[in-house]
Amino acid sequence: MEKIRNFVIISHIDHGKSTLADRFLELTKTIEGDRAGSQHLDMMDLEKEKGITIKMQPARMKYKDYILNLIDTPGHVDFAYEVSRSLAAVEGAILLVDATKGIQAQTLANLKAAQEQGLTVLPVVNKIDLEHAKIEETKKEIANLLDIDKKEISTISAKEGTNVEKLLDRVIEEVPGPKTKNDNLNRALIFDSKYNSYKGVLAFIRVVDGKFKEGDKIVTAAEEKNSEAKELGFFSPQMVKTKEIKEGEIGYIATGIKEPGKVKVGDTVLKKGDNIEPLPGYKEPKPVVFAGIYPKDIDQFGNLKKALSELRLNDSSFTFEVTSKEGLGRGFTCGFLGSLHAEIVSERLKREFGLDLVITSPTVVFKIKTEEGEKEVYSATAWPDRNKIKRIKEPWVNLEIVAPARFYGSITEVLEEIEGEYDQVEYLSSERVLVNYKTPLKDIVVNFYDHLKGATEGFASMNYEVIGYREADLVKLDILVAGEKKEAFSQIVRKETSYKKARKILRRLKKHLPPQLFEVPLQGKVEGSIIARETIKARRKDVTAPLYGGDVTRKKKLLENQKERKKEMKKEGRVDIPNKVFLKMFGE
Ligand code: GDP
Ligand code: MG
Repeated sequence: MEKIRNFVIISHIDHGKSTLADRFLELTKTIEGDRAGSQHLDMMDLEKEKGITIKMQPARMKYKDYILNLIDTPGHVDFAYEVSRSLAAVEGAILLVDATKGIQAQTLANLKAAQEQGLTVLPVVNKIDLEHAKIEETKKEIANLLDIDKKEISTISAKEGTNVEKLLDRVIEEVPGPKTKNDNLNRALIFDSKYNSYKGVLAFIRVVDGKFKEGDKIVTAAEEKNSEAKELGFFSPQMVKTKEIKEGEIGYIATGIKEPGKVKVGDTVLKKGDNIEPLPGYKEPKPVVFAGIYPKDIDQFGNLKKALSELRLNDSSFTFEVTSKEGLGRGFTCGFLGSLHAEIVSERLKREFGLDLVITSPTVVFKIKTEEGEKEVYSATAWPDRNKIKRIKEPWVNLEIVAPARFYGSITEVLEEIEGEYDQVEYLSSERVLVNYKTPLKDIVVNFYDHLKGATEGFASMNYEVIGYREADLVKLDILVAGEKKEAFSQIVRKETSYKKARKILRRLKKHLPPQLFEVPLQGKVEGSIIARETIKARRKDVTAPLYGGDVTRKKKLLENQKERKKEMKKEGRVDIPNKVFLKMFGE
């Protein structure tokens, strides 16, 4: 075990994690040099394009008679729990910071988590080859943060390979080898999983105690699911079979389990017969953000259902159930760990399954107490009658924003538009600031990050964590079109800002809804009263056009007829909202 080193790279998107991992693979001859140039461990095109790190494939490398295992942490705010599980599987972390950008909010959060796990942190400044690299400043920032001497910080160029070998030497010298925790047990931590239609769920594991062999009877601690180790293997980086995995090592077990929900990240795999003594830290990941996903073409409902089921095999942290909405038809209410998670899943549905989708605006989980007790509500449609509501609670988060100090003013302006309260404001260096703000989750799930980026020329980064539920004064805002409630447009809003919200929705609706033959009032209604109104003027269809210069009485008669028809339609009072208007209201 003293010859094993398990580590992660903590870094912000684009700071060079994949590039550095590639250099490691080449240096250790884990992959052939002629394949260099592509990012070997990145599994999905999507992450390259969108800069969203989903997860890198783990890699086992041999270097100077050591075994090095590099696994990934998702560099993404919604996956704090997954990050903590991958950190629990290793002893060391390379903290990689782009010298042109400095430390970002997410990196800061992951660094804190690594320190809490007691990992050895190796601080590294990357991209020193760039002309505008602020090497000294970045070092100072890291030194302050870790309370260390600047000399302890490595400076590298992952792109050109400068000092990368020295960094690998630091990994074997400074990261401690794994230690066993309990001599009498065989236990492994699941830090990731993948579905394989032949072998069942592949659990990516770190063996903490004892060992696992092919054919071993195994059991998962939380779900108490019995199975057998059908196959074991290492990541080199493609999966390669092996007979057994010993304590301290990282690899995979093909469990043969066909229900993905039974093998969960953070859970413990045990050998059957051992005491059920799970490793600490298991949590059930809980969706906090919900959005509707509908096929644009209603005939695609079946395909969407199939695609969601398939995606869930590899990502058991999202949930879905059938729903339907006027104008959109049948679709699914899906639960996600956060709004970026929602974005990833919907992008994957579009790309990997070629589906054309409508995603409704995300909402959060509200806890509503009525006479019948407390229940969780995550769509406006399910909002209880206002007379029955005794108390409403909504999730709050601690929001961390990191940006150059010159944007402090712009950040406060953005924050003033959402509810909340300031916590501390810290200076990471003389030029960079960390703003802590407590705010309702609902206020940051839609558009907030784009807004913040826009206000800071793209420099701000953010991270958040749910800190609990607080009481809230919320109401259901209904939208009426020609006097008729259109449930699909209903939203849950803060009572205080309901007027502003209503006006905004009505203005958009006015822009998108085509005029009718009669005047159409658009109204926002809260708790039984109309609080905002817009009007779409009647479309004047010139029925007399073919008669120019013609008979005046006939012209008059036609106009009268038209008036009569308008009246009738108005009496009917119905406006048929074209599908494309729904798409525009939700899809933008
Ligand atoms: P990741 O998102 O952390 O995986 O970052 P990548 O490894 O994909 O790198 C992001 C971008 O930075 C890519 O265009 C890389 O070529 C570039 N990059 C990474 N390391 C360096 C470096 O040391 N110097 C320079 N100039 N560019 C780098
Ligand atoms: Mg990457």
